[in-house]
This record gives sequence, structure tokens and C-alpha cells, in this order.
Amino acid sequence: APASTTILETTNLVKEFRGFVAVNGVNLKVRRGDIHALIGPNGAGKTTCFNLLTKFLTPSSGTIRFNGQDITHEPPQKIARMGVVRSFQISAVFPHLTVLENVRIALQRKLGTSFHFWKSERTLDQLNGQAMALLESVGLERYAAMVTVEMPYGRKRALEIATTLALDPELMLLDEPTQGMGHEDVDRVMELIKKVSANRTILMVEHNMKVVSGICDAITVLARGSILAEGDYARVSGDPAVIEAYMGS
Ligand code: ADP
Repeated sequence: APASTTILETTNLVKEFRGFVAVNGVNLKVRRGDIHALIGPNGAGKTTCFNLLTKFLTPSSGTIRFNGQDITHEPPQKIARMGVVRSFQISAVFPHLTVLENVRIALQRKLGTSFHFWKSERTLDQLNGQAMALLESVGLERYAAMVTVEMPYGRKRALEIATTLALDPELMLLDEPTQGMGHEDVDRVMELIKKVSANRTILMVEHNMKVVSGICDAITVLARGSILAEGDYARVSGDPAVIEAYMGS
């Protein structure tokens, strides 16, 4: 059967924290191949949603389906193996290893290879070659030998994307990929996300409206735990409820 156009779907997703409802019956639908943005004022429930999708948190109720399969009760590692991978926070990267070594470690994680397997010289060469190719694909080849902690801030997200790509996810979740960046770096990350989206689906939390309007095919606006609006940028940005939610925040 042809792959369904919906890659991810939540039904009545709810997360309560001691009686406080942070996510309140969210029906999120992500189309295969899209760059999809989750936006909304602070406290809207975006991070909680992401944590539910990757099972960092367990939903209070509701279901999550990925490629038609109910993954609501699957453990995080299994969800990652199925193809839903969240960009590693830069803190998860080893700061005192080189940029290349960090990507190689991510590749090894994907392969699940034992120390004995990867320490053979030939395998190590192969992995280094693959890691270098990944660095080239995100425009970081010239940083390969640099100790990661010394990389400029604006390029660290590209490394995060490279380590995530090493796991070859079908659905990539990005947490505010342009946060704290200057214009030039924002432009570069936008281009990179666009490129990476050619053969996968991307769901991201993003505050920068330039990014949202520039590269996102679909947008879901959350406010106080519920979906306020959805559609393309023209549609949601013209929605009075959305304007009000942002003005009031
Ligand atoms: P956003 O990412 O859109 O800013 P969050 O998902 O971080 O929003 O938070 C949504 C709401 O849930 C906020 O009011 C926040 O204070 C609350 N919240 C988030 N995590 C917890 C928690 N672990 N315990 C209690 N309340 C939480």
C-alpha cells in the first residue's frame, strides 16, 4: 500500500502535572515530507508536546500514532529506532572531543556496534568517512578537527543536526533550531533545514517568524495547551485568535 500522507498523529493528547493541564486534548497531524512548526506563546505546551512525542514524558491520556502505528506506550529508545529522533541538545555532545568524533559516535550509536567491532581500523576508517560526509552535508567540514567546545555558537545547531542525521530519522524533531542566533546563522540554519527536509519530515518548535514564514509548510499554533489555529503561514498569521494570543502574552 502507498505510504499514508500522515506520518504523525496525536488524538486527544493530554498531559497533566498535579492537576495542571499543560497539554489539553491536542489533535496534531503532521503530513509526510512537510516542515511543520509548532508555535505559540510561552507556556503554551510546546515543549511538553515534544516531550510526549519522544516519550520523555508519558501522556496522561490520548494516543500517538507514527506511520499508523500506536506508539503511545513504546519506550523512548524504541521510538527513536522506529525513526522519530529529536535533535540532541548540544549538551549531549561531548565537548572535549572533536566535531568529527562526535558525529562518529552518533553513527556508532545508530549501528549499535560494539567496541570490538568499531575499533578495527578498517571500520574506523569507514565510520570516519561517513562522519566527514555528514559534516560536509551540513557545511561543517572545516570544523572537523576542532574540539567541539571551541566551535562558534552559531554553528553548534548544525552539529546537532549532523548528529541527529547520523541516526537517519524519518521524522526529525528540532527544538528552537535558531534560538539565540544572529541573522547570518539563522539564514544558514534555514537553508540547512530545507535541505535536510528533502527526504524526511521535520517538526520543530520555533519562535522566529522569519523561519516559520520562510520554510514551514504547515503551522500549528498552541495556546494554553490547546490548538488555536493550524494551516500555512498566511492562514495562521491572519487569524485574529492567533494575533490576540500573541498580543496578550
Ligand atoms: P512552552 O514550551 O510552550 O513554553 P511548556 O510545555 O514548557 O510550554 O509548559 C506548558 C505549561 O506546563 C507551563 O505552564 C509550565 O509551567 C507547565 N509545566 C511544564 N512542565 C511542568 C512540570 N514538570 N510540572 C509542572 N508544570 C509544568
